[in-house]
Amino acid sequence: MDFELPEELKLIRDTVGRFVKEELMPLERTVIERDANRGMTGTEPLIPPADNQRLLAKARDLGLWGIDVPPEYGGLGLGALAKCVVVEELNRTIVPFILPPETPNLHLLMACCTPAQRERYLLPYARGEVHSSLCLTEPAAGSDVQSIEMKAVRKGDRWVLNGTKMFITRADEAGFFIVIAVNDKAKRAHGGLTAFLVDRDAPGLKLARPIPMIGAHRPWEMVFEDVELTDDHVLGEVGGAFIPLQNRLGVRRLEIGTRCVGQASRALEMMIEQARLRVTFGQPLAERQAVQWWIADSAVDIHATRLMAYQAAWRADQGETDLRFESSMIKIFATEMVGRVIDRAMQAYGGYGMTKDMPLEFLYRGVRMHRIYEGPTEIHRWQVAKHLLRGRTI
Ligand SMILES: Cc1cc2nc3c(=O)[nH]c(=O)nc-3n(C[C@H](O)[C@H](O)[C@H](O)COP(=O)(O)OP(=O)(O)OC[C@H]3O[C@@H](n4cnc5c(N)ncnc54)[C@H](O)[C@@H]3O)c2cc1C
Repeated sequence: MDFELPEELKLIRDTVGRFVKEELMPLERTVIERDANRGMTGTEPLIPPADNQRLLAKARDLGLWGIDVPPEYGGLGLGALAKCVVVEELNRTIVPFILPPETPNLHLLMACCTPAQRERYLLPYARGEVHSSLCLTEPAAGSDVQSIEMKAVRKGDRWVLNGTKMFITRADEAGFFIVIAVNDKAKRAHGGLTAFLVDRDAPGLKLARPIPMIGAHRPWEMVFEDVELTDDHVLGEVGGAFIPLQNRLGVRRLEIGTRCVGQASRALEMMIEQARLRVTFGQPLAERQAVQWWIADSAVDIHATRLMAYQAAWRADQGETDLRFESSMIKIFATEMVGRVIDRAMQAYGGYGMTKDMPLEFLYRGVRMHRIYEGPTEIHRWQVAKHLLRGRTI
């Protein structure tokens, strides 16, 4: 096995690393202030729009566009490992800059689109011209996808959607939504869930409210009232949403793993800096074994998570599409790991670690949600155990 990153990926990693240092990190103070000023329901973007435009233009100039988008859709086609490397670098800062397209929905679209849907939704999305959100969670169903209630009822040659979706990320920015609804209540996940492509301006679709959350997160509640769709809006097979959906979530969880690696790496760097500089009782913190152990344990945590994520990404690049087992293990380990590491870094900074003068406080609040979205930790532990009890080996 070769654990060395290919030269091309090292180059990309260094380019993104410089972009983060030179372009994103200088905006950290602005992000912290904008977050503090948003109040309960504000949805103003944390990066000022003019800066975001400038950053997008710069990223495009640097060739950082469509990293894992296949060339036939206009991307670089560098695959899942490249995407992991880039996501890790981008998350060394709290500035929430996303390189378009944010690809998990891309994989779902690529797996299921008709030629007409490819032109109308997939290609603009792959070019980063339009954003899309996935609408799965409902007021009474999150982890338990089988319990979703949004109805897709056939009326003549139309489908009619009714129901409410909760916690939809970036719904206010989306040009279209991938909405999961029940077309056959008896079958549910076994042939009764269908994915629909719903345009932002579809009559009957409402963004009900932004939901203020821990960190800077503002997902949306959305209401669908008699939203009428034709067969052209069915994504994939009628009743066939479950497996591609699970695979889409697999890719996403991999990405979350590397996001945690980037965030934890930043916290570790800060912890080391503090340990060297801060003197108490006549000695730098770096001389104290308690602090040395925080540093060592954090490095072990980060290294282990990175290897897990890179291995799964490598498998994805070999053509493996079912990464549910690996991605569940990564989701558990990475999301708990990042909390531990940031917590140690804050402890090392004492009172300063609690302030909004430095990014740790923002980071700390932000990473808590990783243990909930894309499946809570307990569900992933259950899934991993299920695979193993059925005979899967590691
Ligand atoms: C920031 C953020 C962004 C999100 N973005 C989106 C989005 O874009 N689109 C979307 O569709 N959804 C989104 N979600 C929703 C998210 O996917 C759900 O919150 C998540 O799947 C959990 O569902 P739930 O909140 O209904 O919790 P529940 O399913 O009610 O679970 C609550 C808790 O019960 C425990 N639990 C549940 N079942 C079991 C079990 N079998 N065994 C042991 N313990 C169990 C777990 O600890 C879990 O945390 C987002 C959530 C957050 C926080």
